[in-house]
Amino acid sequence: MKFKIVSKGDKQSNEIKSRIKQYLTDFDLEYDKEEPDLVISVGGDGTFLEAFHRYVHRLDCTAFIGVHTGHLGFYADWVPDEVEKLVIDIAKTPFQVVEYPLLEVIIRPESGTGEDRFLALNETAIKTAEGSVVFDVEIKGEHFETFRGDGLCVSTPSGSTAYNKALGGGIIHPSLEAIQLTEMASINNRVFRTIGSPLILPKHHTCLLNPKVNGSFLIAIDHFTQNYTNVKSIQCRVAEEKIRFARYRPFPFWNRVRDSFVSEEDMKV
Ligand code: NAP
Repeated sequence: MKFKIVSKGDKQSNEIKSRIKQYLTDFDLEYDKEEPDLVISVGGDGTFLEAFHRYVHRLDCTAFIGVHTGHLGFYADWVPDEVEKLVIDIAKTPFQVVEYPLLEVIIRPESGTGEDRFLALNETAIKTAEGSVVFDVEIKGEHFETFRGDGLCVSTPSGSTAYNKALGGGIIHPSLEAIQLTEMASINNRVFRTIGSPLILPKHHTCLLNPKVNGSFLIAIDHFTQNYTNVKSIQCRVAEEKIRFARYRPFPFWNRVRDSFVSEEDMKV
């Protein structure tokens, strides 16, 4: 099996990266930056996002696993003390694959034919540096509402614990193939009216955001933000592709949610 390790770059993560690399090469596994079967992220969820985007072009043949060197992560769920066990598992046991849904984002320009297509593991967040955004929101080909406000966030189930949660969105189990649309400070008055609740769309229900005013947008795909001008539409839906996690032991999603957001003591009451 060929592997690659992506480190956050701090001293502890680099040290763990060197240890894992040494152990796995001692077990005759091959370090391959170009075509790894397994990508091991060492750092936090931010590092995991980085690793995902580096290998997003080969999701069908690369699986991911994360070791966290900070607090417990949603994607990085192995602790440094478990590194020896993890290495032996990787060297000796074929991993099980757990798949999570991804978000497909297509940004189409007003003129010209080129369009940009992205896959997001957490979300896309659409804002502007120029006041508020105004979008006609279309769901499954029908006009739904005209949104005016700070911005909109469209997230995956596994991204529902990230930016989406801070915006008041619900937490969705990643076995559900869905995307969630959450508002950022919508303006509600006699002219503009929005639903005000997060919307959860199933697979194949496409959400299309059509800017009402030709402006420039700051469009974030996970940790990476780009400025776009001349945008005709932003299309979001559940992607055909999925991320594949290498699983060597169970760590249920709701346990990760509990351990990250609810204290142990609260759970015992
Ligand atoms: P960052 O601003 O340095 O860190 C964002 C925080 O979100 C980190 O603590 C990160 O965990 C955590 N995180 C990332 N994915 C998560 C997930 N799926 N569930 C729970 N927590 C998660 O940015 P970054 O490290 O480059 O990560 C980019 C992400 O930041 C975006 O995808 C977005 O979800 C999130 N974000 C959140 C807010 C907010 O909550 N108000 C605002 C903007 C962006 P680690 O510390 O383990 O890396």
